[in-house]
Amino acid sequence: MIHETPRVRFAPSPTGYLHVGGLRTALYNYLFAKKNNGTFILRIEDTDRKRFVEGAVENLINSLQWCGLEFDEGPGKEGSYGPYIQSERLDIYKNLCNELVSAGKAYYCFCTAERLDALRQEQEQNGKQKMYDKHCCNLSDSEVQANLANNLPYVIRMNIAPGLVVEFDDVIRGHISFNSEIIDDQVLLKSDGFPTYHLANVIDDHMMKITHVIRGEEWLPSTPKHVLLYQSFGWEVPQFAHLPLLLNPDRTKLSKRQGDVAVEDYRSKGYLKEALVNFVALLGWTAGDDREFYYLDELIEAFSLERVNKSGAVFDLQKLSWLNAEHLRKKTSEELLPFLRETMAEKNIPAEKFTDNYLTHVIDSMRERVQFIYEIVENAPYFFSAPQVFDESVIAKRWNEKTPELMQQLVEEFSKLSSNEKEGFETALKVVAEKYTVKTAELIHPLRLSLSGVGGGPGVYDIAMILGKEESINRIKTAIEKIK
Ligand code: GLU
Repeated sequence: MIHETPRVRFAPSPTGYLHVGGLRTALYNYLFAKKNNGTFILRIEDTDRKRFVEGAVENLINSLQWCGLEFDEGPGKEGSYGPYIQSERLDIYKNLCNELVSAGKAYYCFCTAERLDALRQEQEQNGKQKMYDKHCCNLSDSEVQANLANNLPYVIRMNIAPGLVVEFDDVIRGHISFNSEIIDDQVLLKSDGFPTYHLANVIDDHMMKITHVIRGEEWLPSTPKHVLLYQSFGWEVPQFAHLPLLLNPDRTKLSKRQGDVAVEDYRSKGYLKEALVNFVALLGWTAGDDREFYYLDELIEAFSLERVNKSGAVFDLQKLSWLNAEHLRKKTSEELLPFLRETMAEKNIPAEKFTDNYLTHVIDSMRERVQFIYEIVENAPYFFSAPQVFDESVIAKRWNEKTPELMQQLVEEFSKLSSNEKEGFETALKVVAEKYTVKTAELIHPLRLSLSGVGGGPGVYDIAMILGKEESINRIKTAIEKIK
């Protein structure tokens, strides 16, 4: 029986980190669930013991939570259908698999690795498709019992009848049909007593009352086996939706070799979660217009599975950086402050030297000029320490023999200021310009160079205001001394 409201799951294998492709799958499941008042479930598929990584589950959950994708049921949030970690459900798989054996839909297979190798070789030589030859399907009951009594290692295989056409509808890819001739007698239960992905996945999707299976396209070839399994159990088949592949810019399959694939890498590189989620949402989906900027709640509103594309989605880092800048601009300086403090800590800039008030002003002056918060520290180091060197090309262009005297006058005028208001610095500079009948530019550029050591950045009066009167004066004095 299909639930009235959808139940969907993200079912990662805990291989160490959350892959951006996994994030996309999780996000689409989440959006679909939230849009339709459904339930989003996290299930850990950890039946491949060889691939087990310590701490991987915690890591996955952390990454999902960082992105704001709270699951409704899952490890640590037991609903009515747990446990949600497959290695805690082994008896369920074993018992149900035995039922399939009793019904003749699955069978014990005692073939040794040597026999299977030889079979494969022979099939290869004869140009045949490499498939199990059902050898053990033909064992008599008494042979099976004798083998079991002798403790021969075994697996349990699915008994797939030839000549069937397996059909299903995929929400994204439409009607799909496979001929059972090309479907191997899939191993369901391994010799270590663990289920294979296929068995555990189908049993859990059924028992957890999953209505829609939304997952990556790489699972499409497995789906006919799953459909046959549902049929063998006599269970209703869920809706399938296979999401397009993620591609590198050269249209090869997204790989570690061409860039970061772990969510935590993007996090530690200073991407905002809002930007990453927004970006990942657009990998294979659009609302059908040009809109690209979304918050999570707006994505929930706009999302539909029907609008997911079939063709591969290119992972375009430039777009991610652009979205990062867009999201950054929408945040208040107070919201961005922790990010700046984090970067400062990474770069060993002493936190106690700077008040929150000072740093929010720094952010205000820089936010339109950066895509990432760390760029504030990299592009405007002068807010964190006085310049030690002065850009030679700016000196050559902007500093002449008159400049030291002008700068000295500026020091005098600045000294008279009673506050750090921007306008005060501006008026003081104009007073000096008038007194010496020079253009303000003849003062502005050397002042900027004195305060920052470079020729670009936020407005010079903003810099003076942020640094304050004392510090600005000190820096001008140093520049007069150092620049020859
Ligand atoms: N455990 C599979 C994976 O790691 C899940 C595939 C599915 O969603 O069915 O991607």
